[in-house]
Amino acid sequence: MIYTRSSALFVQAEKVIPGGVNSPVRAFKGVGGTPIFVKEAKGAYLYDEDGNRLIDYINSWGPMILGHAFEPVVNAVIEKAKKGTSFGMPTEIETEIAELAVSMVPNIDKIRFVNSGTEACMSAVRLARGFTGKDKIIKFAGCYHGHSDSFLIQAGSGASTFGTPNSPGVTKGTAKDTLLARYNDIDNVNELIQANKNEIACIIIEPVAGNMGCIPPAKGFLKALRDLCDANDVLLVFDEVMTGFRLAKGGAQELYNINADIVCFGKVIGGGLPVGAFAARNEIMNQLAPLGPVYQAGTLSGNPLAMAAGLAMLTELNTKDEIFERLARKTEYLHNGITKVLTGNNITHTINRVGSMVSVHFDEGAVIDFETAAKGNNETFKKFFHGLLNEGIYIAPSAFETWFITDALTYEDLDFTINAINKVAKTL
Ligand code: PMP
Repeated sequence: MIYTRSSALFVQAEKVIPGGVNSPVRAFKGVGGTPIFVKEAKGAYLYDEDGNRLIDYINSWGPMILGHAFEPVVNAVIEKAKKGTSFGMPTEIETEIAELAVSMVPNIDKIRFVNSGTEACMSAVRLARGFTGKDKIIKFAGCYHGHSDSFLIQAGSGASTFGTPNSPGVTKGTAKDTLLARYNDIDNVNELIQANKNEIACIIIEPVAGNMGCIPPAKGFLKALRDLCDANDVLLVFDEVMTGFRLAKGGAQELYNINADIVCFGKVIGGGLPVGAFAARNEIMNQLAPLGPVYQAGTLSGNPLAMAAGLAMLTELNTKDEIFERLARKTEYLHNGITKVLTGNNITHTINRVGSMVSVHFDEGAVIDFETAAKGNNETFKKFFHGLLNEGIYIAPSAFETWFITDALTYEDLDFTINAINKVAKTL
């Protein structure tokens, strides 16, 4: 395929936007080459500035679970826009979407809307600290909770030591309050809690990790975390920015039947507009300003266009239960097809899948945490990525990302993809 216009647009963008992109994951840093500029998208397909059609397995990193330019969402936004785009005053639609979200998700009484997943997680942690009166948090290596300071921490030499910042600009003072644990390692979490008795406000986790490829929680891991939190007066925060309204109506809480204390949302909840949210039971949410002392605010929070898009999206998911089943079946079909062609071509690989999240690692052995995810062969991934791109298939330009399956994909699209992978596998 030819990408001349995309390449020219990228050169132009680089002059006025750092790295030519407004979010680093969009650049092709990990795989080489230049990013593709999208002109428009419909259903399962992206159409780029060079006139190529690509089958999309990223779907805006999650939100477009029902496909691009999904009509009920688009129409809701158009109708709302005609009536004014922002007021900074309460609107009825905010209550409507809040009522719907609270009815779909287990174990939450109140929800507050923000503008991104980052804001949701950042605010959830502030709320956890305010509610418990404790400062430290535990996060897991390889989990991403947005770009706020407390989360940009990676393991030093040992995962059980205090975190060190992995971005200049994050102070040591902030980093020392973020403790790092190994995903799927309950003993490691317990050690951290015991070593920091009565100092930990919350544990924040992606209940299914999607930011080191897709990594499911080991059997019993989330339940063990819940028990540890209860025994030690620590809040459990589920970052469901990826999993919320995707793995089930009620997200990972429903799928695994585990209650979190605070839940964070993003992506699907905004139907493709900039929305995040965090939610909890009354006792916790009532600590928020203006009811309580924990401050959190936003000029554009609850924006009418964003709420209209989110409400149309959640309404569709709420009324059509079968969507989640259908998505899981399509993803399983793709998984089986990829396994068959990669195995047939003797390519060492491991595939992880939960619901409509799936990823391919080029290494053998179980992928259960950041360490095992990092073992994947990046050279093979690069060739795989560019090979698929050449066949008209767009996956994330990094091995550390999950694929997001959309309901707009047909079985014909999936077969086309599996055949393309078979072709590409022969070149790896
Ligand atoms: N949490 C998780 C699990 C995410 O995947 C992301 C974004 N990929 C975020 C938080 C941050 O969301 P946003 O990019 O909307 O700030």
